[in-house]
Amino acid sequence: MKEEHKKVTSKPLEDPATKYPRPPYQEQTQPWPGLAGKMTPVPDHGEKSYVGSGRLAGRKALITGGDSGMGRAAAIAYAREGADVAINYLPDEEPDAKEVIELIKKAGRKAIAIPGDLREESFCKKLVEDAVKGLGGLDILVSNAGRQQTHESILDISTAQFDWTMKTNIYAPFWIIKAALPHLKPGSVIIGTTSVQATDPSAELYDYAQTKAATTSFVKSLAKQLGPKGIRVNGVAPGPIWTALQVSGGATMEKLKQFGADAPLGRAGQPAELASIYVQLAASDASYATGQIYGAAGGNGQP
Ligand code: NAD
Ligand code: MG
Repeated sequence: MKEEHKKVTSKPLEDPATKYPRPPYQEQTQPWPGLAGKMTPVPDHGEKSYVGSGRLAGRKALITGGDSGMGRAAAIAYAREGADVAINYLPDEEPDAKEVIELIKKAGRKAIAIPGDLREESFCKKLVEDAVKGLGGLDILVSNAGRQQTHESILDISTAQFDWTMKTNIYAPFWIIKAALPHLKPGSVIIGTTSVQATDPSAELYDYAQTKAATTSFVKSLAKQLGPKGIRVNGVAPGPIWTALQVSGGATMEKLKQFGADAPLGRAGQPAELASIYVQLAASDASYATGQIYGAAGGNGQP
């Protein structure tokens, strides 16, 4: 019997509390939607660290918000696990997206870039069509794009702003999943990015937090609806993660400087620290996991 699995090089233990930069973080702000490449420090999406082992060989994945943050970490990991990957992002995010496309290609996989605004139903339909065409099918859908703007008071949230959050975080997944469903065969998966905000909403994230409760809810509802069809639906619930969304209106400057300080690990998380969760939920060996919310929040906020 071959014992290939035993050929592993040992790695030193890493202390999760000190593995990444700790607060206080440098004051910074960017116009929305922000670029990961312009953050200080630049977030870790696993560019130098993620090592694949064929867990998603031959899969075809579409990831919204795949240019930066959790979506980028998932895109890099998926490609290195053997999947072809299409990413959606906003035209303003082209510099971040270009880097992700290069990384997917470097992993030897097909990379499809589909920029566009998810607040339009017609674009959501076209996004799925283009992804299916480009990838030659679809079996992993990661609905990850999100809009988060901090407002001290409900009185500061205009109807237009409220609508923007709802369109991005609730309508777009609805439109995209509807368009994708006819293409998803048994064994396919849908993964939504929810948040600890779904269950522990912050005072200043009135509109955003309720969209994340909606995400957790649609994951559980759809899991029941699609289980009999062999399609699994799960959610990832991050805690405070160092991403462009937080420096482009998502957090107050005070919160940003101390981001994650109140978590038991004492720091913000990095997108790379969630990559393996997106992989795990997509992999075929997770075949009994559906309707689940998997979290990574530094010790706070259980999903
Ligand atoms: P991010 O800014 O890197 O990614 C969000 C992405 O959403 C953007 O890159 C952008 O491409 C996309 N997007 C936003 N509006 C869009 C629109 N109208 N059309 C098309 N694309 C649009 O930030 P992130 O933190 O990685 O966010 C990814 C997901 O994680 C979001 O759903 C967010 O709510 C969730 N989340 C983030 C945190 C955190 O602390 N960073 C915590 C919990 C959940
Ligand atoms: Mg981005």
